[in-house]
Amino acid sequence: RDANADLRAHIRTIPDFPKPGIQFRDITTLLLNGAAFALTIDRMAEQVDGEVDLVAVLEARGFLFGAALAVKLGVGVLLVRKDGKLPGATIAEDYALEYGSDRIAIHADACAPGARVLLVDDLIATGGTARAAVRLLRKAGADVVQAAFVIDLPELGGADALRSDGIDVTTLVT
Ligand code: IMP
Repeated sequence: RDANADLRAHIRTIPDFPKPGIQFRDITTLLLNGAAFALTIDRMAEQVDGEVDLVAVLEARGFLFGAALAVKLGVGVLLVRKDGKLPGATIAEDYALEYGSDRIAIHADACAPGARVLLVDDLIATGGTARAAVRLLRKAGADVVQAAFVIDLPELGGADALRSDGIDVTTLVT
């Protein structure tokens, strides 16, 4: 039933990180295993549905999976960073955290209007980060066709929320 049990075995759970009560799903152990990392990228590539012009990657772990996937697909990478990190003119989007808010940014000229963009991150929880990235990419004129994650935490509802935003969501490990 679990087609990705082999990948799941390389993901470690760290209790009480970054604060008490949180079970942190740690993909650094998957990255340390070259075969498991390569298999992850292969399976993410198999889930890509249709033509993609760019892979948008979320800071910081999304950079790793998204960049490797982009090379495999033969397309470029669009960085979605914490605000204040990109050197050129940017557009930004705020999103709510449990306490307070955060802001992500992209270069204003990073994508051509109508570009078909695949968004990639390591994990989707509440979807707050990914949904803000979708709003930002749409503001830039992108056609966000899909969002791909290694891990889904379905009880937090993020994947369903993204689907309600009209995005095709794919994940490997639940
Ligand atoms: P969301 O915005 O609530 O969906 O949280 C997803 C973001 O937080 C992603 O950028 C993840 O990298 C990060 N994140 C949240 N929980 C975890 C976890 O358990 N392991 C790794 N990253 C996490």
